[in-house]
Amino acid sequence: MAYVITDRCAGVRDGACREVCPKDCIHDAGAQFVIDPEECIDCGACVVACPVGAIAHEDDLVGAEGVFAQVNRAFFGR
Ligand code: SF4
Ligand code: SF4
Repeated sequence: MAYVITDRCAGVRDGACREVCPKDCIHDAGAQFVIDPEECIDCGACVVACPVGAIAHEDDLVGAEGVFAQVNRAFFGR
């Protein structure tokens, strides 16, 4: 389990989440930032740092947002 970034990040991409991540597991995927699910320790620090609410725990993704668990994972070849 891990935290996931949704497409609410696109168009903002300010990197605020990266500043606070203790594991350096947030990466720039181009259209949006993504989280490496193997490295994320579920601390939640990035959630409060994001100005647009783009980050949620994988278990809390709602409806169509579920696809972003795969989008984040796929970037790292997971
Ligand atoms: S939950 Fe913690 S470890 Fe995971 S991406 Fe966010 S800040 Fe990094
Ligand atoms: S803080 Fe939010 S908007 Fe900014 S890069 Fe991270 S996920 Fe994207």
